[in-house]
Amino acid sequence: MTWVYNFGAGNADGRAEMKNLLGGKGANLAEMASIGLPVPPGFTLTTEVCTHYYQNGCQYPAQLKEQVSKALALVETRTGRKFGDATNPLLVSVRSGARASMPGMMDTVLNLGLNNTTAEALAKQSGDRRFAFDSYRRFVQMYSDVVLGIELGNFEKLLERAKAKRGVKQDHELLPEDLEQLVKDYKACVYLELGEEFPEEPHQQLWGAVGAVFGSWMNQRAKTYRKLHDIPEEWGTAVNVQAMVFGNMGNDCATGVAFTRNPSNGAKDFYGEFLVNAQGEDVVAGIRTPQELTIKARKSHGSDLPSLEEVMPSIFQELETVRHQLENHYTDMQDIEFTIQQGKLYMLQTRTGKRTAHAALQIAVDMASEGLISKSQALMRLKPDLIDQLLHPTLDPKAKKTVIAKGLPASPGAAAGKVVFTADEAVTRSENGEKVILVRVETSPDDIHGLHAAEGVLTTRGGMTSHAAVVARGMGRPCVAGAGEVKVNYASASFEVGDVVVKEGQLVTIDGVTGEVMLGEVPTVPPQLSGSFGTIMAWADEFRTMQVRANAETPTDARQAKEFGCEGIGLVRTEHMFFEGGRIVAMRQMILAADKAERQSALNKLLAMQREDITELFKIMDGLPVTVRLLDPPLHEFIPHTEAEMGLVAKAAGVPLDRVRRRASELQEANPMLGHRGCRLAITYPEICEMQARAIFEAAAEVGRSAKKTPVAEVMVPLVSTLEELVQLKKVIEDTAKQVQKEQGVNFRYHVGTMVELPRAALQAGKLAEQAEFFSFGTNDLTQTTYGLSRDDAGSFLPEYKAKGIVETDPFVSLDQEGVGELIKIAVERGRGKRAGMKMGICGEHGGDPASIEFCEKTGLDYVSCSPFRVPIARLAAAQAAL
Ligand code: ADP
Ligand code: MG
Ligand code: MG
Repeated sequence: MTWVYNFGAGNADGRAEMKNLLGGKGANLAEMASIGLPVPPGFTLTTEVCTHYYQNGCQYPAQLKEQVSKALALVETRTGRKFGDATNPLLVSVRSGARASMPGMMDTVLNLGLNNTTAEALAKQSGDRRFAFDSYRRFVQMYSDVVLGIELGNFEKLLERAKAKRGVKQDHELLPEDLEQLVKDYKACVYLELGEEFPEEPHQQLWGAVGAVFGSWMNQRAKTYRKLHDIPEEWGTAVNVQAMVFGNMGNDCATGVAFTRNPSNGAKDFYGEFLVNAQGEDVVAGIRTPQELTIKARKSHGSDLPSLEEVMPSIFQELETVRHQLENHYTDMQDIEFTIQQGKLYMLQTRTGKRTAHAALQIAVDMASEGLISKSQALMRLKPDLIDQLLHPTLDPKAKKTVIAKGLPASPGAAAGKVVFTADEAVTRSENGEKVILVRVETSPDDIHGLHAAEGVLTTRGGMTSHAAVVARGMGRPCVAGAGEVKVNYASASFEVGDVVVKEGQLVTIDGVTGEVMLGEVPTVPPQLSGSFGTIMAWADEFRTMQVRANAETPTDARQAKEFGCEGIGLVRTEHMFFEGGRIVAMRQMILAADKAERQSALNKLLAMQREDITELFKIMDGLPVTVRLLDPPLHEFIPHTEAEMGLVAKAAGVPLDRVRRRASELQEANPMLGHRGCRLAITYPEICEMQARAIFEAAAEVGRSAKKTPVAEVMVPLVSTLEELVQLKKVIEDTAKQVQKEQGVNFRYHVGTMVELPRAALQAGKLAEQAEFFSFGTNDLTQTTYGLSRDDAGSFLPEYKAKGIVETDPFVSLDQEGVGELIKIAVERGRGKRAGMKMGICGEHGGDPASIEFCEKTGLDYVSCSPFRVPIARLAAAQAAL
């Protein structure tokens, strides 16, 4: 069995694909060596050694010692040096390397192999005693810290004492003899702390460091990190042992880090920093101000230190070549570490570089245009959720912020405004031109106008699928939900977090990407829908097969969705049209009507409003299909609660207040979500269905007369569970259509279909397809009813379910493919079995969730419908699902 893999001198036993075995660092060192880049030779102890070690009571595999000495001998041959030699010593670094980089793992030990003898040899060879003993001092400190576990503070104190004694301020002002003395002091300290001598023997040092790396795999920090990030224990870590190269041997030496492209904006610029005469850690530690790589960067940052391009022009050119070689080879932006020793360049690390959403987009488009990757590879590289970040303003990264609380990042984007505590106040202030943040314990449908008027929403209760979160995402408003530390006091119009009190009218900023709540107005930067955004969207459209529609009922939302490239409206929630302004009164009047005549008078008012709204939507969609769902309010969302609200209804209807009160209490249901709602309302009050059908068809007739493209009306019946419901309502709809056609003297196109949102509907899909011309899966309700779980109440225990591993993700966020998905599959099959090629789509929140979109593609749906701001995300996710 091979436990050790060599690399260096233009070849390697391993490859980049072997990350599982060699860890990320080791696999890429092997890859760089094998494509001929100048990598100091070394070897990797595999992750299997780690696994073996822990499975066998902390014992190494029997062959390991022998394989390591062979590998070490090879490094000695390749460098022409000998480990522990008294004249020409080999020094190495010991670097841990898990598959994914992991905080908590052991730090790197540099300069290993130094002792009193080899340090003298290094001094003689380099002709620089200061360098040799500074390296020695650093080694003893690093080894004692990371391998022996001695507090760094001990060494810092000794260093300070040495400087004071010499009367100097800077480390590098110490004389060689001071450093030599310091090494002695450090070792004495180790003896004092451990009761054991610091290991002098290089092999003992090596095995000590190797053991420390494997040991750190099981330390508490690493364990916690793995748990949080679902990294299995069996993965293990690898250990890399590599010949040292020195960036700190004089002014022809340097060390640096770089990105092959700009990681913040994606520009094709070499971007990095370096330090002359320094060792690797110094760049990150920020001991001195690092210098720029290129003249261009130096000028743009106004730095007065010369760039690498100026200081070492030929090395810079060599590094430029390496940069292109790496990009061509890995076909992605790389993050590299390099060191220059006496005018020679060495590569010490490469990995895929982390980048902002903006840079990710730019780099994917550029690399495809350069022919480095294909269009489909470019598409696959972008996480759909990145797109979300690009569509909203974000906090200016340079801005100062005072974070006072943290909640759930419920809807992306950042917003600042004056705090208000009621929807009405939000509307009043925003009409006065003020920007406001609506702060509520939680929101309800009564607050919709306030959510619209506000720049953003903050709630103290509720989760990612709470009312505020869902509505805010739909409207593209930033939302921080469930910020429990924030205590709202409506009576005094203020909220408290710890000892901070924020009153109505005071400025706050919320960040829906991080969930942070900040005092004052933190500056934001607008979204940049640059050319590359359009390019990526166009490429996504080339590859995807499913259509993308939007859920929208207001003209603003519909226009926004169209701008984002939707191909129709998949869901118009007609009841949402009645939350606004005075409309709710007419709606309530209709619901609370005592008889048909009263109901009709309210319906007449609603007809006009509804027709106007739908006309507008048809116009905006310009010939694209618009699916209008008939009324589906759980009644409790509309019943007036306060005396004042009831008073308004009584006045509008011209009936005594007492009667309104009585009707309201009669209509109370024990379980409204399973009560008198959806098509059940239309069955008991067919005149509601008739009114809505009339509104839709009159709108279609009107728009059809004037517009070039005739509107496509899809009338959708909600909450159906039996064929007979559909039969009866379809008749009302068709009769109304005929009548409107006759009255208006025009024909228009329309289809009647149904929501599939109850398990019975899914099972009876074959029968429903006799009547329904299309299905739309209402996965919010279908999830609720399949699980028997109320979305509004799930927040109190779902987190615990997640923590205990009962559910992996919130089924209201990402479709439960096994259960709910099974019902969808059955419905698709049975529906299309009856009506070949029947059009089917999804219109729940899941329509904008990438994993659910992939499921829809596999299941053969024709379209997904999601909130306007998720349309671009869905376009990309649909393309990825099709690829
Ligand atoms: P990290 O993952 O924390 O970056 P590394 O193993 O990459 O840890 O090493 C830390 C620093 O030491 C880096 O700057 C790296 O370039 C440098 N380094 C590691 N091995 C060597 C070596 N053999 N010669 C010179 N510098 C090295
Ligand atoms: Mg590194
Ligand atoms: Mg529903």
